[in-house]
Parts: sequence; structure tokens; C-alpha cells
Amino acid sequence: MGAANTADRVTQLLSQLVSIDSVNLDMPGATNGEKRHSDFIAGLGREMGLEVSQTEVLSGRPNVLLELKQPDARRKFLFDIHLDTVPLGGERAGLDPIVEDGRLYGRGACDTKGSMAAALLALERLVADPPADGCDVALLGTVDEEYLKRGVDFALHSGLTADAALVGEPTNLRPVTAHKGVVRWEIVTRGRTAHTSRPDRGVNAIYAMTHVIDVLRERFEVGGMVGPHPLCGESTLTVSTIRGGVQVNIVPDECRIEIDRRTLPGENGTEFFEAVKSELRDLVAREPWIEVECLDPFLYEDGVDTAPDAPLVRHVQGACEKLGLPNALSGVPYGTDGASLAPAGIETVILGPGSIEQAHSPVEWVELEQVEKCATLYDDTVRRFAASGD
Ligand SMILES: [Zn+2]
Repeated sequence: MGAANTADRVTQLLSQLVSIDSVNLDMPGATNGEKRHSDFIAGLGREMGLEVSQTEVLSGRPNVLLELKQPDARRKFLFDIHLDTVPLGGERAGLDPIVEDGRLYGRGACDTKGSMAAALLALERLVADPPADGCDVALLGTVDEEYLKRGVDFALHSGLTADAALVGEPTNLRPVTAHKGVVRWEIVTRGRTAHTSRPDRGVNAIYAMTHVIDVLRERFEVGGMVGPHPLCGESTLTVSTIRGGVQVNIVPDECRIEIDRRTLPGENGTEFFEAVKSELRDLVAREPWIEVECLDPFLYEDGVDTAPDAPLVRHVQGACEKLGLPNALSGVPYGTDGASLAPAGIETVILGPGSIEQAHSPVEWVELEQVEKCATLYDDTVRRFAASGD
């Protein structure tokens, strides 16, 4: 295929993907969830002659798996790319793709339909000219990455395995080998109501919470466990919501906060959580009037920290170098499906076109040339993986 034709094909395919509404069904304004996107990819897979399966993860929300199988395959390479997007934005983050100055605008353009288009193009090339050394190649489109990552977890629990995986997310084509994990939970303080004309008869749960917040900030706002990490910097903690009180003339008897901890790879989430509880026990020992409860986390995800000398990293760096792209390894602050793949023993690198700056924003775009280059990177990485035997 000539260069001009490839560029046209990239624009056409990415436009098709962007025009499919696949807003995560747990998010505002969602209508269909990921199903139509999943169906579209399944259709392309069938046209390519691949093995295709769709598995419902949540009601009406199927993952899709395309597989290029080779008779003598000993190893498997996986592309993991999510199907869902965040809610639609204005004209330049909607369902009608706008192509202008080499960019394609629309919701999902960089997060992460650009990666999906690149992986589909790479698969087309791999089907046309399969790697010689018996390697299976799979593309998993996952639901629910933007919320609870139930798509990738379901696939792994259902027995999906691979030796190496590229996770498609906007990294500006930089190989990303590390990102933080996250722990989110709620803390409640309880007191006793009283009329505010006699506050001495009550116990103010909001005042109790100010002590809790002080402890959290002093101990964990930046770091506090391990680190810093060479690619991810320090772990952080943010108290992000607070609710409390009944009305203006009543001493509040309850206050609740939600906390978001970005853990470093290698920072054990369970140990961190125990450290928080121990600090709160110390607080209560100092201030016995405080009644505080630390609820179990409602979200817990690991970080990713692939060894810089892992074979997959070498293959990705080789592919970048061949295209004249920077191949220094980076870390990113956001989480990905890789948080589930890496602990399952799958060597994981995150790589895709576009910048996280444009993801989830009111104007989302990707450079079409980056998508085209990414298709070559993906294709070349698989070939290097297949040829190397490691
Ligand atoms: Zn994403």
C-alpha cells in the first residue's frame, strides 16, 4: 500500500471509529455503551479472516477478541485497547469527526480510538504477511476501562493469557513502562447532634474530620511510603470530596470524605492502607473524643513497572528507533488496563498515538501521522517479538 493510500485508510478507519458512540455506560449521557464499537471491530475481524469472539462482561457490554492463530505458535502477543470513551464534549469532542491540518478531532480520537485504528491496521499487515516464527497475535477490545476496568479483569479471569502486551493509550508514541496505581476509599467521623445554641452538648463530626485531614496531609499528601520512583516521581494523596452536617443550627453528627491515593509501583496498597489506619488509631489515642471509621477501599489498582531490560521493552525501543522516534522510557501519571495485565505475569508496555493532554478534554484530537506511524510500530514490535523468541 502506498503512503497516500495508507494515510487515507487511517483517516477513514479512525473516522469510522470516532463516529461510533461508545461512551462508558456508567457515565452521564451514555446511550449504547461499548456494544456498537465491539460489533464494528468484530465485523472487521471477520473480514480479515480472524477468529472472533465477543463476551458480555456487563449487560449489553461485550469485550471483543480478534485472534490471528498460527499452527505452530508457542507464544502469544496481545494488543489491549479499551472500547469505551468518556462523555461527549462540544463540536471537537463529539461523534462527527473533523479533519483539519493533519489532525482528527472527536471524542475518543486519542483516548483511545487512535490506538485502536493503529492496531487494526497492524493486524491487517500481519494477516497479509504473518510473522514466520509461530506467534499468535490477539487484539482485545475491553469495556469499562474509563470506570472500573471490569473488561480487562473479566478477560483475565476467563483465562486470557499472553506473553507480552502492548496497551494502546495516548503516550505520544513514547514507550511507557511505568505508571502509578490507585487506592480510593471513604472515611467517616461520627459525633452527636445538639442545638448550636449549646454546642457543648454535642460532638462536632466536622471538627473531628479536620483532625483526620491534617493527619492524612501531614503523613501522606506527598510520598510517605516508598519512593521516589525514577519514572513516576512521588506517590500522592488527595482528599477529594467532603460531606457533612444537617443544617446551619445543628451540630453535625456525621462527616464523610473520599480519598484518592496514587500509589507508586512497588508501594503495596494493603500496607499503605494499614499505615493509614495505624495513624488514625494514634490520632484517637491523642484525641479520645474523635470517632473515626476507615471504610474498605472501593477501588484498588496496582501500578505498572516493567523492567527496563525486559525483552518487550527492547523490541519496542528497536521499533521506535527504526522510525526515528525517541525511545527513552517514560512513566505516566494515569492508570491503564496494564494495571491488571502486568500482575497476571504479562510483560506490558503502554504505547499509542496522541497526548493525554487532549484526553477527556473539551477538544480531543490526534495527529493522523502519529496513528500511521503507530501502526508501523505495532506491526514491527510484533515481528521483533516473534523473531527473537523472547
Ligand atoms: Zn484511555
